[in-house]
Amino acid sequence: MCGPGGAINVTGVTQSLAKNIRPITEHGANVLYQHGTLALLVPGLLEGTTTIGELLRHGDTGIGTGEGLDGELIILDGIAYKIGQSGVAERVPDDFTMPFANSHRAAYQYQCERTDIGLEELNKRIVEANGRANSFFSVIVHGTFSFMKTRAVIKQQAPYPTLLEVADRQAIFLRHDVTGTMLGYFSPVMFHGAAVAGFHEHFLSDDHTFGGHVLDAVLGHGKIYSQVFDTLVTHLPVDDPEYRNHDFSRDNIAEAITSAEGDTAH
Ligand SMILES: [Zn+2]
Repeated sequence: MCGPGGAINVTGVTQSLAKNIRPITEHGANVLYQHGTLALLVPGLLEGTTTIGELLRHGDTGIGTGEGLDGELIILDGIAYKIGQSGVAERVPDDFTMPFANSHRAAYQYQCERTDIGLEELNKRIVEANGRANSFFSVIVHGTFSFMKTRAVIKQQAPYPTLLEVADRQAIFLRHDVTGTMLGYFSPVMFHGAAVAGFHEHFLSDDHTFGGHVLDAVLGHGKIYSQVFDTLVTHLPVDDPEYRNHDFSRDNIAEAITSAEGDTAH
């Protein structure tokens, strides 16, 4: 499962603690808050309809994208950073707006350690180890990545393009031997459309000089922490005129998301 390299060493065999991870109801740490749905990005409803300040009222940890797909956001310890087309993380003010974002109150539980593992295998093993393929959960991987490939979408102007049109308007960044935090959310396959089924992961280096939406990675050595949610709160931009009047029946939501995002993330 998660080991070798796991937390408990039983006569030379390491075991993951993942099976013990349960939703924690104190301080609302069992609740995942989401503003918007990924589906509204598909036809290009990219207006910023919530703020960082509002998102922080629902959590101290999260990810998102800015208005017009302005960069990749990561919130750690109550501080929001944006990685734009320069690839360098910068702090964003409370009035920064977003069409889509997640946040929650961090109460992670230690799962295990992993060494020399690629992103796809790592993600697969995390799901297997905690046995929560039909639950929303968050993962933090902190450690040194021998390879990290990220992207940041370049801010678009209104009238906004569709998600498929914007997929090739992005900056790609590569780093080797970078230490930092990868923050991810896992969404069950039955929620594909509201989110991307599977993992959506963003990265921030410890020195804040690098980050973005994770496309590929190899973890050299790091610790994995998980937090399981039993409640999803979805806040919709019900008074946004574009959202009110849009006919989603003409958009092939699930196919467009799969095509634009692959099966790992937005
Ligand atoms: Zn992203």
